[in-house]
Amino acid sequence: MGKLTGKAAVVTGASRGIGRTIAQRLAADGAEVAVHYSTGEAAADETVAAIRAAGGRAFAVRAELGVAGDVDTLMAGLEHGSAGLDILVNNAAAPPAGPIGTDTPERFDHLFAVNVKAPYFLIQRVLPLMREGGRIINVSSVATRVANPGQTSFAMGKAALETMTFTLASALGRRGITVNAVAPGATRTTDNAAVFEAPGLAEFITGQTALDRLGRADDVADVVAFLASDDARWITGQVLDASGGLHLGLRA
Ligand code: NAP
Repeated sequence: MGKLTGKAAVVTGASRGIGRTIAQRLAADGAEVAVHYSTGEAAADETVAAIRAAGGRAFAVRAELGVAGDVDTLMAGLEHGSAGLDILVNNAAAPPAGPIGTDTPERFDHLFAVNVKAPYFLIQRVLPLMREGGRIINVSSVATRVANPGQTSFAMGKAALETMTFTLASALGRRGITVNAVAPGATRTTDNAAVFEAPGLAEFITGQTALDRLGRADDVADVVAFLASDDARWITGQVLDASGGLHLGLRA
C-alpha cells in the first residue's frame, strides 16, 4: 500500500519536465494519475507507459490551456469524473515572456490565460468532484521571491497563483481540502537541459545556491508528493520553496 493508494490525481503539463516526474512520483505512491498534455502526445504516452511499466495506473488527457473551452476539454477527458478526485497539481505553465521592453500585450494575455486563469477555473470545475482530504498543489517559482528582469510578467502570474493559494486555502478548509504551492528554483530536466548549457550559467546558478547544485525534477516532485500525502494534512495556504536555497543570501 502506497501513501496515495486509492487516490485519483490530475497533473497538468505532465508530458515532460517537472510535471512528468510529479506524475510518476504520485503514481509510484499509489495514485491513479491523469497525465495532462497539450502538444506532446507522444511524450504524454511515454509518461503513461513509464508509469504502467512500474506497476502504476495512469491515462493521458489532452487539452490546450489558455484558449476558449480549455477547462471543458480537460474535464471531458477525465475518466474518473463521477468517482471523484483527490489531488490536483497545477503544473502546466507558459514560459517567461521576456523583459518589459520586448513583452507584448498578446504574450502577456497568453501568459496569464495559461498560468493564472486556467488553474483558477480548473479548480472551480474540480471542486464539486473533490473529496474530503483533497489536495490542490500549485507550482509557482522563485521568480516571486527573486527579482529577474527577464521574467516580470511571468513572476506577476506566479504571484497571482500564490495569492490564489492563500485565499482558496481559507475558503476550502472546512471541506478538509488543503491548498499549497511549491516554488522551484532553477531545475534542470531532461527536456530543458540545453538551457543550462549556456556558457557559465550552470556554474553561476550553482554558486548562488545554498545546497550547491542545480535542482532536479525529483527535488520538486518529492515535495509535491509530501503535500499530497496525509503527512501534510495540517499544512495549508503555504508556499514551499523547493530551490535548494537559490539566492538566499551571502554564502560562507
Ligand atoms: P516545461 O518542460 O516547459 O513543460 C511545460 C508543460 O506544460 C508541458 O507538459 C506542456 O505541455 C505544458 N503546457 C505548456 N503550455 C501549455 C498550454 N498552453 N496548454 C496546456 N499545457 C501546456 O516546464 P517545466 O520546466 O517542467 O516547469 C514545470 C513548472 O515548474 C511550471 O509551472 C514552471 O513555471 C515551474 N518552474 C520551473 C522551473 C525550471 O527551472 N524548470 C523553475 C521555476 C518554476 P505540452 O509539452 O504537451 O504542450
